[in-house]
Amino acid sequence: MAIIGIDLGTTNSLAAVWRNGKSELIPNAAGEALTPSVVSVDEDGGVLVGRAARDRLISHPERTAARFKRFMGTAKTYTLGSRTFTPEDLSSLVLRSLREDAEAYLGEPVEEAVVSVPAYFAEAQRSATKRAAALAGLKVERLVNEPSAAAVAGHIGQGGEDKVCLVFDLGGGTLDVSLVERFGNVVSVTAVSGDNRLGGADFDLAVARGFCEDCGLDFDSLSPRRRELLIRQAERCKMALTNQERVILSIDDGTVSAALTLSNEWLIRKCGALFRRMTAPVQRVFLDGGVSPQELDDLVMVGGSSHMPAVRRYIARTLHKEPVKDSRPDTAVALGAGICAGMKARAADLRELVLTDVCPFTLGVARYNESEQGRDLMSPIIERNSVLPTSKMGIYYTVRDGQDKVDVRVFQGENRYCEDNTLLGQLQLPVPPARRGEQSIRIRFTYDINGLLEVEAVNETGRAERLVLQNGDMTAQEAERRLKELARLKLHPREQEECRAMVARGERLYAVTVGSLREQVAELLDWYQKVLSTQEALKIAKATRRLDRFFDRAEAYLGDAALPPPEPEDEEADL
Ligand code: ADP
Ligand code: MG
Repeated sequence: MAIIGIDLGTTNSLAAVWRNGKSELIPNAAGEALTPSVVSVDEDGGVLVGRAARDRLISHPERTAARFKRFMGTAKTYTLGSRTFTPEDLSSLVLRSLREDAEAYLGEPVEEAVVSVPAYFAEAQRSATKRAAALAGLKVERLVNEPSAAAVAGHIGQGGEDKVCLVFDLGGGTLDVSLVERFGNVVSVTAVSGDNRLGGADFDLAVARGFCEDCGLDFDSLSPRRRELLIRQAERCKMALTNQERVILSIDDGTVSAALTLSNEWLIRKCGALFRRMTAPVQRVFLDGGVSPQELDDLVMVGGSSHMPAVRRYIARTLHKEPVKDSRPDTAVALGAGICAGMKARAADLRELVLTDVCPFTLGVARYNESEQGRDLMSPIIERNSVLPTSKMGIYYTVRDGQDKVDVRVFQGENRYCEDNTLLGQLQLPVPPARRGEQSIRIRFTYDINGLLEVEAVNETGRAERLVLQNGDMTAQEAERRLKELARLKLHPREQEECRAMVARGERLYAVTVGSLREQVAELLDWYQKVLSTQEALKIAKATRRLDRFFDRAEAYLGDAALPPPEPEDEEADL
């Protein structure tokens, strides 16, 4: 039974599978890799998905829905003909169509998938995505952030070079910018940012408006159908400008008739504001990631709109960096999801790869607000952009004399007041009554790469209460099993082995050396223990390599008295 990877896009969706040592795109029934994320209900109640549905956007707009990914996890509904759908329902229809295509192509049942989601997707949107998959008969344990998937796809063919890479993903409706580092076999997203209201569709609209402006038409007073047609034409011209200098945009439907020759210069002029909006998320991601643009090794541009030469040039100029040539704008995310599916299926040829991710939002608890009672403050425990899996603890104190219990309310969000953030769950823990501030409770959050959050609160007597929050619906057994996995998962087992071997090697060196070299070995081992306790795969990988280099030189020195003793490198700063 195969596990597939799915890029469930706003505009287009794709599926891929790990086979014969590579990620392979799965064609749909029409033989194409891209399935438009559009659903239409026909007159006798049948459902159409993909290109056929997309064609009906103009002929049957009242029976057709597109771009519903933007509303995942919200209460918005779509009425198509006589039926009402949630964004989740519509996504599940797209997923079911991909699943059926995959079963036909692979000749075996497909019951599990790894689905990619935008990095900025919050809990509600991630849960909705998982439920959509469940509705399509697909078990989804692992959601992967789209940029991580794109980075993995880009990295895997390129040997094991260490690098810092910026993934710029401009799709149909969203911009997603992320910093991804590869160090040895660890690929790690270190910061994410974006604009979920900026994408190819905004360019289509700007081109259509620019066209009207230059032709003396009033875009807003055109009929909805005419506007839709013009936007469709504008998109076609925008795409044509990818590989030709000029293109003619014209409309002529009997009443309205106009034509204009467009060039890339014209497009840049009419879309100036859109280009400028691209820079803020790029700057933010460098800030959040603590990396300067000069340290960037690779610029990976993905998403359909990254085909646009004007976009490529603009970003290349902003960063003083040419985009990686062989990045595949349309398929990178799906190919990466296919690789993750291979990792999930424990493919032997992917055993060396470790993919870590970041938590795209802050998780914390409500803290009593002394100066504004009733308006609890958000107290972050796991900060946005923390590397996953992660486990962090906060200590809190009672706020009233004689207080005999503490309500732990768990929130997600970036706002100062809890009321502006999303409540994920709560638990209650008894505390021995005492004077205010005299009793403490420790609250530990453990968040894994599959989106399972474990909250544990312990009071001073050792009494503990636990709460498990997960995105998507899962049975109790499933949650229990995952919880057990989580206990093991705090560090990648294979990594652990390597780390243990490194510690053993250091201890052996310590035993056979004397004087300052021995002190250096001891210091390094101490430092290494501290790095290990952060449980952050990237830091650990870097530290392991540093130890490896030092031990190599120390061993060479011991074997050859003519060599000077090794000096440790000065890298402590990053802890
Ligand atoms: P999403 O991730 O949102 O599903 P995609 O990455 O599939 O989106 O990108 C879809 C967008 O890419 C559309 O707005 C489409 O117009 C645009 N696009 C696709 N190919 C080209 C091209 N050759 N030139 C310019 N834009 C393109
Ligand atoms: Mg996409």
